[in-house]
Amino acid sequence: MTHALPMLCVWLVACAGCQSQMNLATQQEEYTITSTSKEVALGRKIARQVHVELPSVADDAVQQRVRAIGERIVAVCDRKELVYTFEVIEDPEMNAFSLPGGYVFVNRGLIDRAANDDELAAVIAHEVAHVTARHAVKRYESGLGMQLAQLAAVAARQGAAASGLGVGMRAAQLAYARQDELEADRLGVKYMKAAGFDPRGMLSFLKKLHEHTRQRNTAYLPRGVVRPQYALTHPYIPDRLRAVKETLYGVADYIDYLNAPN
Ligand SMILES: [Zn+2]
Repeated sequence: MTHALPMLCVWLVACAGCQSQMNLATQQEEYTITSTSKEVALGRKIARQVHVELPSVADDAVQQRVRAIGERIVAVCDRKELVYTFEVIEDPEMNAFSLPGGYVFVNRGLIDRAANDDELAAVIAHEVAHVTARHAVKRYESGLGMQLAQLAAVAARQGAAASGLGVGMRAAQLAYARQDELEADRLGVKYMKAAGFDPRGMLSFLKKLHEHTRQRNTAYLPRGVVRPQYALTHPYIPDRLRAVKETLYGVADYIDYLNAPN
């Protein structure tokens, strides 16, 4: 028993700057050194640079459509203290990404391929879920998020005078861990249902993405040309399909188990 005490002291010292808070999305008590205001400041810094580098779609109807879907999702999400922003950027690639603090970006190329509002809501709900579950912040704190820290530093240095595709392009390529992707899908389905969208939109969109990715993989790409595509930042699509089917129907297809990677 006696050796338990020094351990406790170390932990207390190491965590002197920590705050404990309940994460409603993950339903877990979490220790964090990043307050919400710090998180928003970090996201804002990068978002500002994304705005400089990646042009916004100059179509009010499209922006309004995405904003309206986003607001319905936010109204039922687990983290309502943030001010979320939703923005469609002019990029033909099928991609979407979010930044800490509630900044959600959707590419024009993804909107063009979404069959309806339910599929669009699936993508937006998934991105909002990354924010509510604080996935990026957790990676940032664990050291896996060096990418994010570097982005923030570069964004701060570059300011509005930056040119070329630097921070924005790299922000669009931030990837999450497999368990974060599956959690964002599960939360996304929950938010879709609560907001009155058909959660099967998550399934049909993932199938579409799977097909798109397979075609992309066989298509010729000049050496060195890498564009941020959804499949890069959101891998594990077969796993995700299975997890979403289980969430929706309680069971995945038998064929999915046969095809499951070991
Ligand atoms: Zn994701």
